[in-house]
Amino acid sequence: MFVHEYVHYVQTLTGTIGRHIMLELARLAVFAGILRKHGWPPAPGYDQVHLREVLEGATRAEFQNSDPRAQYGEFSRELSFALADDPTAAPQGTVAGAFVRARLSVGPHAVDDFVHVAAARGGNIVLVPVTDRIVFENMARQVERNYLLFNNNLDAGVVDAQRGQPHGDITYVCLHDALKVRLPDTEDCAKWTITLCQTALLCRNPGTAFEHMLERLTGLRSSNLTSFIQALDRDDWFAGEFNQPPVQDALNELVGKWGTAILPRENWELREFTKLVANASNALLGNYSLMAGNLISWKDVGHWIARFGCPPIIFSDATRGEVQGIATNAPWTWYLRRLDDLLQ
Ligand SMILES: [Zn+2]
Repeated sequence: MFVHEYVHYVQTLTGTIGRHIMLELARLAVFAGILRKHGWPPAPGYDQVHLREVLEGATRAEFQNSDPRAQYGEFSRELSFALADDPTAAPQGTVAGAFVRARLSVGPHAVDDFVHVAAARGGNIVLVPVTDRIVFENMARQVERNYLLFNNNLDAGVVDAQRGQPHGDITYVCLHDALKVRLPDTEDCAKWTITLCQTALLCRNPGTAFEHMLERLTGLRSSNLTSFIQALDRDDWFAGEFNQPPVQDALNELVGKWGTAILPRENWELREFTKLVANASNALLGNYSLMAGNLISWKDVGHWIARFGCPPIIFSDATRGEVQGIATNAPWTWYLRRLDDLLQ
């Protein structure tokens, strides 16, 4: 569904991991281009690189054992943790909705003390790692549900039916359900889920951020979302976690240090790309509940598209270049795809 996937696009653009991925790939593309054209480190006063031409003419073999390839590998490992979503068996006596620290293994790599949430699957309780993917899906599901409720005669059955499946749909609802057991019935749990997921995604480690927020929630006498969020703004815990590294610094380094190494025309395209990230981040940093309205109309979606842009929508038979009268556009995509061809 378009709204669900569109939420993922915005999350990628603005969440700490998503924007780190995009900015790191853009940096690596320039790094790879300089390396191929001039060697590394390049001599002082070297000519600006025509990046598209250089990457087009490059081959995978040329990057064997290179720094860009090693950094790309490190980056892919980080990404595999961000995308992990396999549940594991919970220790005896764990109750659904509890937050538990446990080991997370992904392929040959493992992290101890990773934040997990307990969820019911069939008759069992399992632990789901609170990775970026899990936070992405919990948020997107509730936005999608709100959109369906408003636009489909209050019927969200198409997604709710998933809960009856053997997988219990836990990837999509585990955080929502953990909030549900902590909030009074009168609270709009979807709104809380969307807002807290959004806040967590703006942190360096969404899992620990979510864990911290739920700890705070447990001790509260009244649960009002607005005052809860205001209190988070004054909470020292977030100091080293929230918006780290600051989006502004990451963008400045990319444009200032790396953008000047490529032709002005390409640097301009890179700036367009960084503008998109900056505009989107500013919109969400100013309002974590931006996507949490409970009556989401197509017009609201249009407002998001106007703010965050929209990449071209690829159908099996055609690519759509326009949504709601706004041209779709994904700056810098060619370079990112080409980089993946060369370094993976
Ligand atoms: Zn999804």
